[in-house]
Amino acid sequence: MSMKDYEFWFVVGSQFLYGPEVLDTVASRAAEMAEKMNASGVLPCKIVYKVTAKTPEEIDNIVKEANFCDSCAGIITWMHTFSPSKMWLNGLKNLQKPYCHFATQYNRDIPNEEIDMDFMNLNQAAHGDREHGFIAARLRIPRKVIMGYWQDEKVLSNLGKWMRSAVGAAFSKKLKVMRFGDNMRNVAVTEGDKVGVQEKLGWQVNTWPVGTLVEYINAVSESETDALVDEYISKYEMATDNIAAVRYQAKEEIAIKKMLDEQGCKAFSNTFEDLYGMEQLPGLASQRLMEQGYGYGGEGDWKVAAMTAVIKAMTEGMNGGTGFMEDYTYNLAPGAEYSLGAHMLEVCPTLAADKPRIEVHPLGIGGKGDPARLVFEGKAGKAVVVSLVDMGGRLRMICQDIECVKPILDMPNLPVARVMWKAMPDLCTGAECWIIAGGAHHTVLSYDADADMLRDFARMMDIEFVHINKDTTPESLENELFLKDLAWKLK
Ligand code: MN
Repeated sequence: MSMKDYEFWFVVGSQFLYGPEVLDTVASRAAEMAEKMNASGVLPCKIVYKVTAKTPEEIDNIVKEANFCDSCAGIITWMHTFSPSKMWLNGLKNLQKPYCHFATQYNRDIPNEEIDMDFMNLNQAAHGDREHGFIAARLRIPRKVIMGYWQDEKVLSNLGKWMRSAVGAAFSKKLKVMRFGDNMRNVAVTEGDKVGVQEKLGWQVNTWPVGTLVEYINAVSESETDALVDEYISKYEMATDNIAAVRYQAKEEIAIKKMLDEQGCKAFSNTFEDLYGMEQLPGLASQRLMEQGYGYGGEGDWKVAAMTAVIKAMTEGMNGGTGFMEDYTYNLAPGAEYSLGAHMLEVCPTLAADKPRIEVHPLGIGGKGDPARLVFEGKAGKAVVVSLVDMGGRLRMICQDIECVKPILDMPNLPVARVMWKAMPDLCTGAECWIIAGGAHHTVLSYDADADMLRDFARMMDIEFVHINKDTTPESLENELFLKDLAWKLK
């Protein structure tokens, strides 16, 4: 399912106290609001007005229906009038979908001449939304609260971002990850409890033999390869004479895609240590698959592979770019302090500032043929880097705000795609904070997702979230992590 196939159910609260006329007005306004919000063009998914709930039974029923409806990615509640929250208690306890309490109001302004007690009784969201907020707080139900006028673009944009997080959650729960080979020998941060991760995030992480992939590669026909190489020539600059190496990557791309699609997998990992029977480490092939929306992680890093796929699903239709990244090296010159991110080969071309070049160069490790890869510079602009680490008993998501720049050096002998950025609050403090929090060298870099979207996703999935931003200090972060560690042990 893609972004536009998901819908969000608008459930409006009221009660019988006000009489049928008020309830009819509430219902027709709720339908009108859903229609206008859909027509705004700001929301990535459709809002469907479902019910003006007046009884516990109506609330129980809509929650049960939402829980079992695949296309429903979440519910949005709003109290046009006062809706006593004990009515909501049983229903909300059973809710298994993301939940946004949208505290808004039908009218924007208080009408000076018209306002009387009838107006007050009909338009009492300020009152009703407080009663509704209490019950979720009392029940400790994870939810997003958005307050503001429903036609305000900023408010709709916040609602749209939350919808994207919820679509990420729906995608995550169904995600299958294909592993070729285990993680790189002795590396700790790429490890994790796959059963625990499946329980929390839904990811089904399983392994397939490299030998099977080799059979698929060898079975790719020359005509399939010709067609894909033609596509490469149309999309990228062919900066190599070694067409044989490029053709081999095309075969790898076709073969990996076939295996992923046959198994319904949207992410994969591999390792240069386990390429038995393959002629090249997939470089161009992995880059191309990421460009098509599949997640990827190098050195057996299935966590970053899956997170890349989730964030790509969350940001579908945005055009900033999201891909697998690795912190490689620093420029520590005073006043020009930057991180240089890259990978051995596998950097997603959605991050590229300009048309990527296909180049072929030797690879110092792995002992295989010279692999073709796409080489480019990353875009300038605001972005985040995201890492998911297994803390033993729980998952921690670390998100850092970064500012990408056009690389300040040409680096003509660097044979891989590269992105240069300044971490918040500054390179050294930002790296100190990242290291204190245990963030990995592998990350997902996204120009489209932001900390709000990822925090909402983490809340939906019930995992720890740490945000390193312009205001973070190592002292404040250490305190935060200490308290969170205690809290998560008690949870
Ligand atoms: Mn790596």
